[in-house]
Amino acid sequence: MAYAIAAPAITTVPVIGGENFPVHRIYCVGRNYAEHAREMGHDPNREPPFFFMKPADAIVPTGSTIPYPPKTSDYQHEIEMVVALAKGGRDIPVEKALDLVFGYAVGLDMTRRDVQGEAKKLGRPWDMGKGFDQSAPCAPISPASKVGHIAKGAIWLKVNGEARQKGDISQLIWSVAETIAYLSGYVTLAPGDLIYSGTPAGVGAVKRGDKLEGHVDGLTDLAITIA
Ligand code: MN
Repeated sequence: MAYAIAAPAITTVPVIGGENFPVHRIYCVGRNYAEHAREMGHDPNREPPFFFMKPADAIVPTGSTIPYPPKTSDYQHEIEMVVALAKGGRDIPVEKALDLVFGYAVGLDMTRRDVQGEAKKLGRPWDMGKGFDQSAPCAPISPASKVGHIAKGAIWLKVNGEARQKGDISQLIWSVAETIAYLSGYVTLAPGDLIYSGTPAGVGAVKRGDKLEGHVDGLTDLAITIA
């Protein structure tokens, strides 16, 4: 095929073992841990999950130094477990949902909280608060064929060695399978999709020079520095 301009590169995330995972879309779940829902001023009593997106090329590999983004003075961390899909489909039943999963990784849903807050107040889209350049750091993916399906275990984030966020994957309001089932009612999921599954309590601002370390039990840690 003759393209009018050079075709954009495919964004990839390394897979433990040496291959690379090509990224199709990035979906994110809002308020999926009760304590975080409360810290953001909401009642966590299982309101249905809701979703937003980031562009695929917002992915940043572990070990990167990323610039403090423009247009914010409240740039915040959200540590999350990322689910990578090997298969797609729509209207997937909960019992079949985990069959779609390729593997799991540690990710950060970096957020311009002030921009997001203004959008919420004005009933505007969240995109510029959530879906900006380099807003989706992601550590290498561990295949489920090697580590199994991650349904429990500690998730935490340290900033400059100090604990900031702490939770357990078992505290997800909507499990990975339920999230996939719900999401597939809205969109046709595809191989290469990533789902950021939500963040536990303790979100907060970062500043230039901060070193972020993210962890989920059983997965490879994520390390990011803010320039
Ligand atoms: Mn998030």
